[in-house]
Amino acid sequence: MDCIFCKIIAGQIPGDKVYEDEKVFAFRDINPQAPVHVLIVPKKHMRNILECDEETAAAVLRAVKAIAAAEGVSVSGFRVVTNCGRDGAQSVEHLHFHLLGGDKLSETMA
Ligand code: 5GP
Ligand code: ZN
Repeated sequence: MDCIFCKIIAGQIPGDKVYEDEKVFAFRDINPQAPVHVLIVPKKHMRNILECDEETAAAVLRAVKAIAAAEGVSVSGFRVVTNCGRDGAQSVEHLHFHLLGGDKLSETMA
């Protein structure tokens, strides 16, 4: 499958890995929007949050907590976002959650 995130997970193209477990892989965004900008990606290919099962969602939640702590933003705060579909401005069709922090983020969401 011609999916850039599947290729990063498989190690076929480089990714700056920050976390991995059985179900989830996480790496730094190539075009960071904040000092901390990590993409949390299920290892299983699924297009968006509508295709996400509860087991995967639980693994993503575990990853969010671990990465926030490791990146030092648990106390200062951070934001988790997933874009879905055209109006959500999703550009990579493999489900991913952006974890953003390390600075005061915009108060607007859209
Ligand atoms: P989306 O717009 O789909 O929510 O987010 C896709 C994100 O993937 C963007 O923030 C973009 O910078 C990031 N991205 C796209 N291609 C690559 C890549 O090859 N490597 C990494 N690390 N990030 C990527
Ligand atoms: Zn994929």
